[in-house]
Amino acid sequence: METVFSKIIEGTIPSKKVFENERILAFHDIQPAAPVHVLIIPKKFIASMNDVTAEDLPLIAEIHAVAQQIALELGVAETGYRLINNCGPDSGQAVPHLHYHLIGGAKLGALVG
Ligand code: 5GP
Repeated sequence: METVFSKIIEGTIPSKKVFENERILAFHDIQPAAPVHVLIIPKKFIASMNDVTAEDLPLIAEIHAVAQQIALELGVAETGYRLINNCGPDSGQAVPHLHYHLIGGAKLGALVG
């Protein structure tokens, strides 16, 4: 399925990349919610968390390893950060391509409340 993220993967929409390998791309969010706001996505199309299958689990694990590395490189590993996945309408998921927000660099407020 073509989305803004598939266009970023193929390079037709530019992005500020912070990590890339054959399976995963990470880039700065265009509308950062905090001083550090990076999106980490699989290059394989997966619409949402609901569509992750058992065969995707190594990829999901690798996304966590990449998030850990990016947090170190961007200086938020010690101060703290969130790794957030929005899934479905109530979460506010706007782009139907699985993605994780790595957010930090400031004291973050409560998510719900
Ligand atoms: P969602 O609400 O789906 O979890 O998050 C989608 C995120 O993608 C939003 O934070 C939004 O700012 C970001 N985004 C949407 N379009 C673009 C784009 O063209 N470039 C970048 N870098 N981020 C985008």
